[in-house]
Amino acid sequence: MYLYFFKDKFCKDAYLPIEERAVNFGDGVYEVVLSYYNKPFKLDEHLNRLFYSASNIFLKIPYSKEEIENIVYEGIRILNIDYVKIYVQVSRGSYERMHEFPPNEVESNFFIIFRLFKPIEESIRFNGVKLFTYPDIRWERCDIKSLNLLPNVLAKEYSKRKGGFEALFIKNSKITECASSSFFAFIDDKLITHPLTNEILAGITRNEVLNIAKSLNFEVIERPIYVYELERIEECFITGTTTEILPVKSIDNFNYKVGERTLKIYRVFKERIL
Ligand code: PLP
Repeated sequence: MYLYFFKDKFCKDAYLPIEERAVNFGDGVYEVVLSYYNKPFKLDEHLNRLFYSASNIFLKIPYSKEEIENIVYEGIRILNIDYVKIYVQVSRGSYERMHEFPPNEVESNFFIIFRLFKPIEESIRFNGVKLFTYPDIRWERCDIKSLNLLPNVLAKEYSKRKGGFEALFIKNSKITECASSSFFAFIDDKLITHPLTNEILAGITRNEVLNIAKSLNFEVIERPIYVYELERIEECFITGTTTEILPVKSIDNFNYKVGERTLKIYRVFKERIL
């Protein structure tokens, strides 16, 4: 169950040339949006972040925000299934390989993949998942959702081989975020997450969770959590568009319980997406 949008039309088959900057350099940006029952969750925020990422690498998006919104709604309508994962990618176009930007007349390549999404089983969610720490070897602009994901790929594979669900990036003894999700922990009854800097992606789910936590009167602190604090974590969880809110049962050799505060935030989140 899938559908593409490429070169101004919906199709089931699409190809990029091998001399393409996304292929040769990872020279582009992307977004992942989830649609629940024909409603793309926080689409406006995702598109704002897409335009933010693109402008920070001087990349022109060939459609306006409104045009992309209309394409997304049309794709969801055509596919007509409950949960759709929507992947949007823009690259600096197809041209003979050169590091500098290609000539101005080379157009960006824009495409969207709409695909059936299978939600994480509730039994996995309520059991919690395992994380394994991995050195944060990414670049200094993690606020840009760029196509360059090699460190994330290596980190996730490392965790998977150890039986984990996610990798937790550690930079100078502090937790930044996960390979494809944000990280939160309750310590001393306060909900803590890394502040918005160039070292993490400004997660859309992260922002929603902060709003929910405040509405539930949890004390929220945006500061880095250090590795030496792992033993003091009372409960922790990861967040992301496709993971939503996912309790963590262990980080390396530290074990945690799936806590009531995390589940409370998850329940409010569920109400908001549906
Ligand atoms: N951090 C990283 C590195 C990510 O790749 C993602 C999502 O893909 C997130 C955090 C979570 O962001 P969001 O909640 O907007 O999906």
